[in-house]
Amino acid sequence: MEKGIQIAIDGPAAAGKSTIAKITASKLGYTYIDTGAMYRALTYKALKEHIDVYDDDALSSLLEQIVIELVPTEEGQIVRVDGEDVTEEIRSQEVTSNVSATAAQPRVREMMVEKQRLLANTKGVVMDGRDIGTAVLPNAELKIFMTASVEERAERRFVENTKRGIDRSMEELCQDISNRDKADTERIASPLKQASDAIFIDTTSMSIEQVADTIIHHVEKRKRP
Ligand code: C5P
Repeated sequence: MEKGIQIAIDGPAAAGKSTIAKITASKLGYTYIDTGAMYRALTYKALKEHIDVYDDDALSSLLEQIVIELVPTEEGQIVRVDGEDVTEEIRSQEVTSNVSATAAQPRVREMMVEKQRLLANTKGVVMDGRDIGTAVLPNAELKIFMTASVEERAERRFVENTKRGIDRSMEELCQDISNRDKADTERIASPLKQASDAIFIDTTSMSIEQVADTIIHHVEKRKRP
């Protein structure tokens, strides 16, 4: 049987990483792991329990106690926290505006990275996030760094939000995305950064299919003896 590889996909907020990672994983029969959903699940629980999203000690002891599950289904990935389905809740505006604070806490990151490495311990995996190629899977056989202009990313989020009944203007979305880009790139603990051996893809004027095909092409090259 063919041995799978580890594929790390990093990039800024709303660059289309999860859409592309899902398609790539499904085409290859690999496991898809959405690490952003793990930070979102912790943030959701912290907000629910009135825990300060800047308090590393409180957040890391909360993370020790809770069980976060990423469950792949036909309709997409389900996220559970302590058995509760929070797939929709973790995409709320409140979680989105607080998640970068939670994710900047050093102890939280250490614990998350440990969990993510264990999850990646399968044959073939596509993992997306901000620090996958630099910190979580530094030996991944294929690393992709994906981005697009802020306007294009806001536009894509706007279309997605409209489908889900979320009302947020283009101006607000551009602001949200810029704020998250700033917080994610400027934090001390594993900031968002392209790994030196990552392939850079600017998806601004590419379709989803074109990006997925580009990645599959690189996978095929990696798999050749
Ligand atoms: O990918 P998504 O936008 O859902 O991620 C939510 C937030 O989680 C990001 O803005 C970032 O602050 C954090 N994150 C991270 N490291 C990862 C994945 C996500 O810091 N590997």
